[in-house]
Amino acid sequence: MQTTLMIYDGTAPADSDVSRTGGVPLAPAGFTWPMCGCFCGGPLQFFAHLPVEDAVLSVFVCQNDPGACAVWDAASGANRVYLFPRSELQPVAVPGTGVTLLPATSAIRTHVVTVQPEDTNDHDDEDELEPDAYDLARSGWKWEPEERFGKQREVLGSLGGSPSYLEDDRLPACPSCAGTMEFAAHLEEGISWESAMNLGGQLGYVFVCRACRKGAFLTD
Ligand SMILES: [Zn+2]
Ligand SMILES: [Zn+2]
Repeated sequence: MQTTLMIYDGTAPADSDVSRTGGVPLAPAGFTWPMCGCFCGGPLQFFAHLPVEDAVLSVFVCQNDPGACAVWDAASGANRVYLFPRSELQPVAVPGTGVTLLPATSAIRTHVVTVQPEDTNDHDDEDELEPDAYDLARSGWKWEPEERFGKQREVLGSLGGSPSYLEDDRLPACPSCAGTMEFAAHLEEGISWESAMNLGGQLGYVFVCRACRKGAFLTD
């Protein structure tokens, strides 16, 4: 099983067109900052800029009143994912109020990890969960036999593959065509308080419908 991990790679310029969390969103001209449609009505916080092929995923999550707005629900309006064509992107004007930007901008590099299923101490017990590719890759990142944990905090998520331990009934439908959305990325909260989103300790999931250029976000 191959997993493309996203690994923390130091700081990045706030408006760079590289994979990053934090900084300022880049969007086509005329784009306006998304507002929370759940409860608070304030501006969403910009989370991540993720170039994928000829497009960019741009992820926003409400952080104005943690726990009040349903950031875990793809249909709540408390989060937003855009799929922008990767050309003529420019920094978006930041609203003057609300929780809009992370204190730190974190560069992301990708690293492909291959985990062999036999590494995972498989049993034939039907009650046991199938080994999960992302979970195995993340927990094995820089792990040494004498350590309890590896350097899991360096793992900021993964690109592609399949959603980790997500119930089928949580898979979002495209808001435009109602079709099944394609899984695009996992996003972890972050490596430090300056760079971290508050996802209630949960893993973030990003989905796209490429035909409609729509995205969706939810958490575990
Ligand atoms: Zn909100
Ligand atoms: Zn669609």
